[in-house]
Amino acid sequence: MNEFHPAKRSNADCISGIRRSKRGQIKISYGEDGAGRIFHISEVDSGSNTGCFCPECKAPLIAYKSKRKLTRDHFGHRTDYACATAPETGLHKFAKQVLCENRALLLPPQIGRHEEATNYIRDAYMFSYDIVADEVIMPNMKPDIVVKRGQYELLVEIAVTHFCEEAKLDRLRERRLSAIEIDLSKVLRDASREEHVDAVLKSAPRQWLFNKRVASAEEQFRQLALDQANAVRAQHDKDWGGLAADLAAAYGGDVEVGDTSWFQAMEYAGIEEYVAKPIIGGGCFIVCAATWQSAIIHRFVLRCYGDITPWEVTEWLAEENFLKPAFRLPPVQGGTEMKKYLKAAVPDFRPPEDVVTEFMLGLARQGLLYKGRTRWSSRTPNAEKARNEWNQAKTAWRRWQEIKVVLVAIQKDAKRGSTVRKPCALRTNGERRSRLSNSGRKPG
Ligand SMILES: [Zn+2]
Repeated sequence: MNEFHPAKRSNADCISGIRRSKRGQIKISYGEDGAGRIFHISEVDSGSNTGCFCPECKAPLIAYKSKRKLTRDHFGHRTDYACATAPETGLHKFAKQVLCENRALLLPPQIGRHEEATNYIRDAYMFSYDIVADEVIMPNMKPDIVVKRGQYELLVEIAVTHFCEEAKLDRLRERRLSAIEIDLSKVLRDASREEHVDAVLKSAPRQWLFNKRVASAEEQFRQLALDQANAVRAQHDKDWGGLAADLAAAYGGDVEVGDTSWFQAMEYAGIEEYVAKPIIGGGCFIVCAATWQSAIIHRFVLRCYGDITPWEVTEWLAEENFLKPAFRLPPVQGGTEMKKYLKAAVPDFRPPEDVVTEFMLGLARQGLLYKGRTRWSSRTPNAEKARNEWNQAKTAWRRWQEIKVVLVAIQKDAKRGSTVRKPCALRTNGERRSRLSNSGRKPG
């Protein structure tokens, strides 16, 4: 199937600026003579003796020009065959010819940009040149046109369908070669010769691919940003470097077991598996994870129906001297900048309230706490069950203390001569009772 013989003109044809003749041929605005000179359709007579060839495939062209102007004047291949890219190739070659025949073109404005910063160096202006070099071959590069004025050399790229690739941009930057790109992609292919000349020299969009002044302005911006970042860094080192060193040393310091009665309370309540969880940043506490975590549950779950926030829990831990001295000044005072600095400077650094929050989230997942929108509560079925277990254990402990008094009295009597058997009921009432007797400590 010949894709160049569509039955009807499609929308796509109009969008791309390509028109097809009644015979299905692509309408071409430019032909090329035997010497390589490009002619617009307006410059030749109608008919087959144009002496022009297709700029793409070199096939002879016929000029279709109608006095009645029913269709726009155009070239067509003398054969039925029409190459699809001929209009683009013709325009590209014509643009190069225009630059060679003229001595001034509009250069884009010079604007240095870096992130939010912008530096307007120079507005767009007409650049006059006295030398033009076509077909210049540079190492790894073949610019469309090179124009010169004195020592200044400017590469000009013409984009009709192909724009400058990243690799070529890199080479231009590397060699610091001034270069612009003129964008003819939106120019109508069948516009008049004058319109095309104007587009090439002035009206078509154009941009710098590389410009030394723009590059050095952007380099200055980057250097300035780097200097500012270094100054901020130095100030942070001065403000918080000492604290970071203290915190790093504190994380490496020893951890005590602490008061084991907190953990025993968890055993009495039957929730010992909820504690002793390793948490990143937990090195901020003087005691091991089992102890500080048990203390939180004991204080805010077993002893009251907690209505709390992680921040309040952390403050309580600080008041009770659970925090190592370096962490007693809450890092939140320094704001997010300080936290960022400490996180970068101290491996595994986390503010204590973050550590507490993670632990409390774990308790919420296990149903011991309920996380509300702003506050946390321990009015949950799991917490209720733990409180009951713990209260029963406390009652049993008090009874055991009373019985112990009786036993001591009996033993004293025995020493005085009589032998009495210990009441066996005291030893057979379950495992928890025996743990109580082993530890001999009060639950909570
Ligand atoms: Zn052709």
